[in-house]
Amino acid sequence: DEVALDPHRQATEQDVERTLRPHHLAEFIGQPRVREQLELVLRGALNRGDQPDHVLFSGPPGLGKTSLAMIIAAELGAAIRVTSGPALERPGDLAAMLSNLAEGDVLFIDEIHRIARPAEEMLYLAMEDYRVDVVVGKGPGATSIPLEIAPFTLVGATTRSGALTGPLRDRFGFTAHMEFYVPAELEQVLRRSAGILGVDLRDDGAVEIARRSRGTPRIANRLLRRVRDYAEVRSDGAVTREIARAALEVYDVDEIGLDRLDRAVLGALVHSFGGGPVGISSMAVAVGEESTTVEEVCEPFLVRAGLLARTPRGRVATAAGWAHLGLPAPENAPG
Ligand code: ADP
Repeated sequence: DEVALDPHRQATEQDVERTLRPHHLAEFIGQPRVREQLELVLRGALNRGDQPDHVLFSGPPGLGKTSLAMIIAAELGAAIRVTSGPALERPGDLAAMLSNLAEGDVLFIDEIHRIARPAEEMLYLAMEDYRVDVVVGKGPGATSIPLEIAPFTLVGATTRSGALTGPLRDRFGFTAHMEFYVPAELEQVLRRSAGILGVDLRDDGAVEIARRSRGTPRIANRLLRRVRDYAEVRSDGAVTREIARAALEVYDVDEIGLDRLDRAVLGALVHSFGGGPVGISSMAVAVGEESTTVEEVCEPFLVRAGLLARTPRGRVATAAGWAHLGLPAPENAPG
């Protein structure tokens, strides 16, 4: 849409996201287990004066993995360097990044499952021994020069922990899987964000937006901004239940938070494939999206909402999935 294409508008939306990011563990809402475990990992290392173990966060986009990486750095009083798997195509890129680290730094690698193989192998040694082997020259004359790097903590984030190789996964001392948030937690996220942004968010408005946020804080914050636009343009600025409902209708977000793509995926599964079973790539082709988007963004929530099930033979629509589209389920649809 036009909004997404306007670079200035996009930059400001990212700025808003940064403004809304929690800065300390105590400010981070939900994920109580992850928070407790992480607190112990950090506190233990700080008390001993050790460099904390490398940390891996997995889970769908928008659940707070990047925020936690920044919180780790803040709690350690350390600087954070940010990069991503796709940006580390050549091992030289990673070597440069690693050799620029100062002692105690946090290195955050988003989408770490997409790191290229040679860079990944370099990472093993860096994580284990704080060392990299830099290869100089080519062919039979090539030599590898060992280079010390400063002790650091790697924080990796991935939407697909299954796509990580065993050796890489094994080098993380602490691994946490992020769960979708329950509505009460999303209401807290919304109230906090409304406070920061100065939005007049009423209780029933928060409940309505939370319910339609796909269990995801990033989506909750995004919907809050869209509903605020609506409230300010069409009404007096107060975000009530009625205003939230009317606004989310304009933005094609349905009663349980499915957006157009989620519904397209479910619709294709039912209409084009008779409810399945079908492979993820066929579904992606049917909706004209990348398989990774369908698999990592849409599918986890459809599964969590009980509308789609993964079976060994492929994806199938559940009885609730058929019902959500207003259709009678065939007899063999799972419950
Ligand atoms: P991820 O890295 O998993 O995609 P982010 O850390 O970028 O997710 O989070 C997206 C946005 O959602 C952040 O800007 C932040 O405002 C908000 N957010 C995520 N988790 C929380 C949380 N637990 N409490 C408050 N806000 C959160």
